Amino acid sequence: MIAFLKHQVKTFGLTELFKGLALTGKYFFKKKITVRYPEEKTPLSPRFRGHHALRRYANGEERCIACKLCEAVCPANAITIEAEQRDDGTRRTTRYDIDMFKCIYCGFCEEACPVDAIVETRVFEYDFQERGENVMTKDKLLAFGDKYEAQIAADRQADAKYR
Ligand code: SF4
Ligand code: SF4
Repeated sequence: MIAFLKHQVKTFGLTELFKGLALTGKYFFKKKITVRYPEEKTPLSPRFRGHHALRRYANGEERCIACKLCEAVCPANAITIEAEQRDDGTRRTTRYDIDMFKCIYCGFCEEACPVDAIVETRVFEYDFQERGENVMTKDKLLAFGDKYEAQIAADRQADAKYR
């Protein structure tokens, strides 16, 4: 009986409505937090998983040693690697493709890489205009790495103590 009365008071007293109005009123005069993207941007974490890049060492040598761990760990089968041995005995990729349409940006490739060669950058604003542009080739990935190396290195440094 008491539960029934409580329910009736709640229903006919419009308590839910007033609760909702109180919540609206509470935030009506507060500072608005809507971000006017793309003019305004939110901060990004050093761990942000955006566009991929292949990195080089300071002497210009590519980091990737063609171990294929990233290819093996990729759950989306987005990475395709072909490799061969150089004249100096080192092993390097002759092909390194990432199909960005397949990629789910999980970051497993980055975590698996023993030499910090493949990384995901903060860059997330990109598009493809032509068929096939979604496949990022080794040259494109290296060029991307060269362009953003300073930011990539700073992000790795900031995150180093947590890895
Ligand atoms: S981020 Fe994930 S899905 Fe994308 S290439 Fe790397 S391992 Fe594959
Ligand atoms: S990017 Fe890293 S994990 Fe992938 S093949 Fe090269 S060295 Fe191995």
